[in-house]
Amino acid sequence: MLAGLAFKRKWQNKMKSLGKPCDKPNIVTGANVQVCWEKFARYFEVELKEVKLRDGYYVMDPEKAVEMVDENTICVAAILGSTLNGEFEDVKTLNNLLMKKNQETGWDTPIHVDAASGGFIAPFLYPELEWDFRLPLVKSINVSGHKYGLVYAGIGWAIWRNKEDLPEELIFHINYLGADQPTFTLNFSKGSSQVIAQYYQLIRLGYEGYKNIMENCQDNAMVLKAGLEKTGRFNIVSKDNGVPLVAFSLKDNRRHTEFEVSDVLRRFGWIVPAYTMPPDAQHVTVLRVVIREDFSRTLAERLVLDIQKVLHELDMLPARVSDKMAATEEHARNGIVVKKTDIEVQREITTAWMKFVSDKKKTNGVC
Ligand SMILES: *Cc1c(COP(=O)(O)O)cnc(C)c1O
Repeated sequence: MLAGLAFKRKWQNKMKSLGKPCDKPNIVTGANVQVCWEKFARYFEVELKEVKLRDGYYVMDPEKAVEMVDENTICVAAILGSTLNGEFEDVKTLNNLLMKKNQETGWDTPIHVDAASGGFIAPFLYPELEWDFRLPLVKSINVSGHKYGLVYAGIGWAIWRNKEDLPEELIFHINYLGADQPTFTLNFSKGSSQVIAQYYQLIRLGYEGYKNIMENCQDNAMVLKAGLEKTGRFNIVSKDNGVPLVAFSLKDNRRHTEFEVSDVLRRFGWIVPAYTMPPDAQHVTVLRVVIREDFSRTLAERLVLDIQKVLHELDMLPARVSDKMAATEEHARNGIVVKKTDIEVQREITTAWMKFVSDKKKTNGVC
C-alpha cells in the first residue's frame, strides 16, 4: 500500500510538472495479484489493470503487461511468488521489455516487486536469479517478515531503491519522542515485538541459517509433491523453483471436486484450502499446501497418507453425495431437504475430534 502510494505521488508530481492531467492513474498487474493490490487500488483510487491468466499459465505475462502500460501507469507490480501457485514472475524480461517501451515513448514507468513470500526464498535458493535492484527499473520491493522471514504475523516492510523514489512529502517527522523520528505508515502506535523478533531471527540465523531452513522447506515440498504424483490422481500446478509450496488439482474432478477433498481433509485435522484460479483460468480449481519451517518430512508423509485415505473415502461414495456432507449443501433429514448451517458443520467436526481423542485415550494412557 505504501509503495503504491509513493508511486502514485511520484507520478502525479511528474504529470503536474509537465502540465498534464493527473486524475486517472492506473497500475498494471497480473490477475493473480494478492488482494492487497486490489485494496490499494480501491482505497487510493487507482485503476487496476489486470493481465488475464490462461490455461496452464498462472502468472503475469510480461509482454501483455507492457502492452497495457500507458502514460497514466504509475508502475507495473510483479510478484515474486504468486499467492496462487508460488511461481516467480519473470521480472527480468519485464524490466527489459519496459526499458524498451520507455525508450520509445519517453515515459519512465517503474516496477515494484511484491516479494512477500519470494523475498526470503530467492536470495537463499536462487541467488543468481535477477529480480531485485540489480534490474534498473525496480524501484521498490516489499517482503513479509511473517512469512518466510519466520516471525509471527504482523510484520512486513517495503524498501526503496533510492531516497528520490520515496517522495519526501509523504514522510512525517516527529520530535516529541526524544529525537527526530521519520515515519511513513498508515497507522499510528504499534507494538515493536515483531521488529525485535525479526531482528533476533536475522542475527540468530544469519544467511546460512535461513539458507538451511529454506532448503529444508524445499526438500519437504518435493517429498509432498512426489507423494501426490505417486497417487496418480493429481496434476501439479506449482513450479519446482518458486515458493516451497505444492499446488495441485485433480486429474479427474467429474465425480468429486477439489472442494470435497478439502472438506474431508478437515476431518483429519488438515486445513488445505481449495480455490478457483482468477480469470481467464477460473475453470481450474487447485488445492494448496504451503511448506514452512515447522512442516517436517514426517508431516509431509502423513499428509500424503491422509490424502490417500480421503481419496479412498470419496471413491466409496457415489458421485457428489459427499457434496451433501459439505457445509453449504442440501442435506436430506427425515425426508425433508434442509440446509446445513455452519454451526452444524462445526459441531460435526468437533464431535468427530472428540471421538478421535476419546478413542485414543482408550488405547493409550499416555497424553
Ligand atoms: C502475503 C502477501 C501479501 C500481503 O503481505 P502481508 O505482509 O500479509 O500484508 C502481498 N502480496 C503477496 C504476493 C503475498 O503473498
